[in-house]
Amino acid sequence: MYIILLGAPGAGKGTQAVMLSEKLKLAQVASGDLFRQALQKETELGKKAKAYMEKGQLVPDEITIQMVLERLAAPDVKNGAILDGFPRNIKQAQALDKALAPPKKKIDKVVYIKVGEAELLKRLGGRWICRKCQVPYHEVESPPKVKGECDRCGGELYQRADDNVATVKKRLEVYFAETSPLIDYYKKSGKLLEINGDGNAADVNGRIVAALR
Ligand code: AMP
Repeated sequence: MYIILLGAPGAGKGTQAVMLSEKLKLAQVASGDLFRQALQKETELGKKAKAYMEKGQLVPDEITIQMVLERLAAPDVKNGAILDGFPRNIKQAQALDKALAPPKKKIDKVVYIKVGEAELLKRLGGRWICRKCQVPYHEVESPPKVKGECDRCGGELYQRADDNVATVKKRLEVYFAETSPLIDYYKKSGKLLEINGDGNAADVNGRIVAALR
């Protein structure tokens, strides 16, 4: 089973990917996490992606598509995965359609998490993420039990460099220009589930699980 999570930065894709991967016993493939890991390890891939990420722009397709398709060939995701942050434009979606083509594989559902722009800005502003397991928190809406520490694994929480006001604005612009056309793309293929992303993570998760059933 392959499920794509679609939505703007701050819509809750990361949170829902973690919750769904636990519930459905599927590994999570998050393109942003793959880039951040490469950046941390200072690999060639990380060096190539750095400037784009800092500016809130998309990393070029040839780099991104190769990275994600390589990840999707690994044994732990051969029979399914939750995709978070990929695809982010039509070219990436077409490449994924080819890689997950029937009869062997298929994209089962695309969960579009819909959240208004004002709420997105609020969420990204106070976001803290676990360095170890990537679970996101919000300093007001969903704080960790112990400040600076992940409830799930005890890892250190940090704020992403691209969660500053200027970069967030750019990331939202990029989302509306390049990624939002995917809503129609997947609607046409009959795979889109539109989910109201307002409210707390557990409520949104309940809506997603009900829609997937
Ligand atoms: P995310 O963690 O999904 O918000 O991604 C963080 C950053 O990584 C983005 O702002 C892009 O610079 C880059 N990135 C992640 N996924 C993609 C993708 N599918 N295509 C291009 N760039 C991406």
